[in-house]
Amino acid sequence: MTDTMNNPPEKNDFIRQIIRDDLASGKHNGIVTRFPPEPNGYLHIGHVKSICLNFGVADEFGGVCNLRFDDTNPTAEKQDFVDNIKADVAWLGFEWAGEVRYASHYFDKLYEWAVQLIKQGDAYVDFQTPDEIREHRGGFGKPSVPSPQRNATIDENLIRFEAMKNGKYKEGEAVLRAKIDMNHANMNMRDPVIYRVMHAHHHQTGDKWCIYPMYDYAHPLSDAIENITHSLCTLEFEDHRPFYDWVVQKIGFDVPPHQYEFSRLNLDHTLTSKRKLKRLVEMGVVSGWDDPRMPTVAGMRRRGYPAEGLRDFCQRIGVSKADGVVDFRQLEFSIRYVLENTTNRGMAVLRPLKVTISNFDEAVANFETLKKDSVKARLDDGVLWITQPKNTNMDNGEREIPFTKEIYIDKTDFELNPPDGYKRLSPNNLEIRLRNSYVLKVESWQVDDNGQVSELIASIDPKTLGNNPEGRKVKGVIHWVSASLGVPATIRLYEHLLFEDDELTEEHIANVKAQNPTADDDTLWVLTHINPNSLQVVNAVIEPSLANAQPDEKFQFERESYFVADGVEHTADNPVFNQIVGLKDGFK
Ligand code: ATP
Ligand code: MG
Repeated sequence: MTDTMNNPPEKNDFIRQIIRDDLASGKHNGIVTRFPPEPNGYLHIGHVKSICLNFGVADEFGGVCNLRFDDTNPTAEKQDFVDNIKADVAWLGFEWAGEVRYASHYFDKLYEWAVQLIKQGDAYVDFQTPDEIREHRGGFGKPSVPSPQRNATIDENLIRFEAMKNGKYKEGEAVLRAKIDMNHANMNMRDPVIYRVMHAHHHQTGDKWCIYPMYDYAHPLSDAIENITHSLCTLEFEDHRPFYDWVVQKIGFDVPPHQYEFSRLNLDHTLTSKRKLKRLVEMGVVSGWDDPRMPTVAGMRRRGYPAEGLRDFCQRIGVSKADGVVDFRQLEFSIRYVLENTTNRGMAVLRPLKVTISNFDEAVANFETLKKDSVKARLDDGVLWITQPKNTNMDNGEREIPFTKEIYIDKTDFELNPPDGYKRLSPNNLEIRLRNSYVLKVESWQVDDNGQVSELIASIDPKTLGNNPEGRKVKGVIHWVSASLGVPATIRLYEHLLFEDDELTEEHIANVKAQNPTADDDTLWVLTHINPNSLQVVNAVIEPSLANAQPDEKFQFERESYFVADGVEHTADNPVFNQIVGLKDGFK
């Protein structure tokens, strides 16, 4: 592996260049950014990119970053989402400036400014239905039609807007629109709606309001209130920037905030839309927002992805205006990159095959005189406890592994008909090193009614605890767990939750459609794309020290994968581990 693979690249994207220039020219003396989630779902990997950017640049340039909930749409929003988003941002390792902020805390101010716009002749109340408004906006060769209320007097508009606020209208009966240009080339400038009637309870403001500002109106003004210098958002807001600028100019700020757009993160096999992720939760194809297969921060945390790995990933993918799809293996690379140097080791046998060591008692009786000096072990009541570092690369303590007469090895480590190049046990190669222990030699095996090997009888070479065998070379090393002292554990193995389009056959799609004749398009999309093997539950046996893992503690299970003790379900009596990521890098 080269150095460039190891070290994430320098951060020098176009946004950082703009900020550097703005500080150098004196346009700004310091920078203020914000991360503005709508509390209508859980944060996902796409938001992580935005969080790393907003908090990251604030940090690097000595500025601050606010956490602001863009809570202008009460029917889709909940306090539960607010709480989880706060927890996720903190878990990712970022600290927002001061208190959490809410667009809803600015509703009084936003209302006053709407009145100001009316007084300036820049806004009017429209009684057209939502359909009429859409229709009359024109476009695609169709001319626009101004609203019958477009030229109402300022006084009429003031009275009508106040009536809107006082609950005189039902939803859809009246809206406040900015008065800009019904023939503007940018549809967003054709008198956009800035307030609508919504008789809804709000998680922050309760029942105080029955009109709510639109995001496009609330967002620039919230930025202005907070003295945001660089308002960073994804490219789909580029067409909204003229309105953003219009609003802050009309209200008249000395130092207006400015919006900059970067490309959103897309990852293969991964949905980055709260709405679609919500669908997965509602359909019950995952166990919840924090299912370890979900690309939500809550899911990735439960999956065992370290926050540092997510930050490393964001640094490596960088920020630009180019659209594209990031290879999922790049995310796994970063996760592995962090886990490599921070996890303890352990042995777990996922497909147990029993091995009885026929000469166990005689072989270990004189372990003290026969072993290599540096190996630490003790014999206690027929169990040889072998001491090993928790992590061979870290000086963080030791663990004892019990070696007993009966052990389990993995079924795939003994093949009756090995493929070419197979280096583990087979009738042609009967000797192998047990990791951290003796060299084992298979003497015979039993086969069940299905022709499957059901048990091995073996012996160990008493002189090989830490020492090389004499007069021969033994190549392979396999992991193992004591059969009598190992602990049964539930282990969850994962594949991608979703297939990519090009992994689906026409036949599969047709079958799913035929089986679900009444499903809508979104549901059909999920049903066709869901990978039925995304979760596989295995009854494994783990070395005893692993059962004492703390929830969320991460390990490298030798020769298997990185695993995390499930943060919700794991206990010492019923250990549950989730696969984090494989040991080998699949990314080129
Ligand atoms: P979703 O479609 O998942 O609801 P959103 O953009 O509507 O996403 P918000 O809560 O409004 O969700 O987003 C908060 C911030 O996160 C916004 O600035 C948005 O641009 C950014 N963001 C959302 N998705 C991505 C993504 N895939 N990549 C980068 N930034 C994103
Ligand atoms: Mg949004």
